[in-house]
Amino acid sequence: MVFCGMKTIFVKKLGKTMNDDSFFMKRALMEAQKAFEAGEVPIGAIITCKGQIVGRGHNLTETLNDVTAHAEMQAITSAANTLGGKYLNECTLYVTVEPCAMCAGAIGWAQIGKLVYGADDDKRGYTHYAPHALHPKTIVEKGLMAEECAQLMKSFFQQRRE
Ligand SMILES: [Zn+2]
Repeated sequence: MVFCGMKTIFVKKLGKTMNDDSFFMKRALMEAQKAFEAGEVPIGAIITCKGQIVGRGHNLTETLNDVTAHAEMQAITSAANTLGGKYLNECTLYVTVEPCAMCAGAIGWAQIGKLVYGADDDKRGYTHYAPHALHPKTIVEKGLMAEECAQLMKSFFQQRRE
């Protein structure tokens, strides 16, 4: 369900009752918080299948000394291990920040059914560099809890400058 402008109102209105998407985005934010506390760029991801969390991950590029260790990549590997299959077409991926071109490629390879992301990434987001990287059947929803997701990034980079 994407109503563009309506979407934010819809989510805000639900408030305490919380729909599933907000519930899982909060879990993704908790993953992002773990990254924050480890001195990693705070991005978190959750993968669900039929309402159950089957994969999770947060950015680990510093810890693993690996530029490919983005939250989405960790979550995709973790979900494939849980489910015992590499295609995730019945899964939803929640990620706090718009995926980069590399992760969008991986999301495409995994054939993720639905992608929900929070904050836009105007510098590295896939929509700017690889808008067709996702599988054509993947449903995309953006802007869910975008403020909270962006705020965590802002605090991280502010703290690093101090
Ligand atoms: Zn990425």
